[in-house]
Amino acid sequence: MAKPAAHNARHPEAVPEGFVCLGCGGCCRIPGEVKVGNREIARFAHYLRMSKDAFIQKYTRLRQDRHGLALLDGEGDRCIFLDQQNRCAINPVKPDQCRSFPFAWNYPGYQRICRGARARSPGAKPPPPEPDRRP
Ligand code: SF4
Ligand code: SF4
Repeated sequence: MAKPAAHNARHPEAVPEGFVCLGCGGCCRIPGEVKVGNREIARFAHYLRMSKDAFIQKYTRLRQDRHGLALLDGEGDRCIFLDQQNRCAINPVKPDQCRSFPFAWNYPGYQRICRGARARSPGAKPPPPEPDRRP
């Protein structure tokens, strides 16, 4: 998962050893955009049993740089697919950008929003147990 393409970094910060995503949804609630390509859109549309055109109409907008599409935002900076229980409605087919966070890209200080990274940072106390609420 992960949303903030606006913060995309060429040289991501190191990810703590043993990192495990704890499904906190932090990376789905910050400013930025989730860029999506044609093949991904076909994947999402198939998963949601709708046509590509319908998906584009309902869930996407033009990217800020106007070079392709991004997912719409929901309330505030939340991704439109993040539900109130912090579950991603398209988790099994989620965007490549989301899959690759925080390993392929992140940004300085990303640990502040990433519970998984904080849990594995040096000196961190283990977080209280939290069930994985993702489908
Ligand atoms: S598509 Fe899913 S994983 Fe990606 S930002 Fe939205 S809610 Fe998060
Ligand atoms: S633990 Fe990190 S990667 Fe996983 S959902 Fe939270 S912010 Fe995103």
